[in-house]
Amino acid sequence: MEDKKGRMVAALENGTVIDHIPTQKLFTVVQLLQLDKCKDSVTIGNNYSSKKLGHKGLIKVADRFFSDDEISRLAVVCPNIRLCIIRDYEVVEKKEVCLPDQLTNVVRCANPVCITNNEPMKTVFYVVDKERGIMKCRYCGKEQCIDNIKLV
Ligand SMILES: [Zn+2]
Repeated sequence: MEDKKGRMVAALENGTVIDHIPTQKLFTVVQLLQLDKCKDSVTIGNNYSSKKLGHKGLIKVADRFFSDDEISRLAVVCPNIRLCIIRDYEVVEKKEVCLPDQLTNVVRCANPVCITNNEPMKTVFYVVDKERGIMKCRYCGKEQCIDNIKLV
């Protein structure tokens, strides 16, 4: 792989490349996927130039394929990143991360009296407006915007 893009994703035999990460979100993604505790080989790059974003971050993780649950967490933090699944040095799948219709145990409810903040239970949010990132608590109906959420 010697094309422009190839240099950035080179030499990953199997694993996942997380691309188009806004630079200020890079370390949030690292934390979210617990890559600091990951035993596989992880390459983290930041401030690559990108036509779309100006600058972007990129993470390569060898031998790791993320679950749908991990991907929905990612979607909440940075809705427009892209995952490239690599097998045998080839990109076999590209996934645009987008907000799912429902988020289970990803986001904390901002309403202090909500049952989810007072009982040991999972939170459930319905994404009611994907474009603006508005989600609504299943239990108390409180709406919150993706820009102000706290993760579980
Ligand atoms: Zn609630």
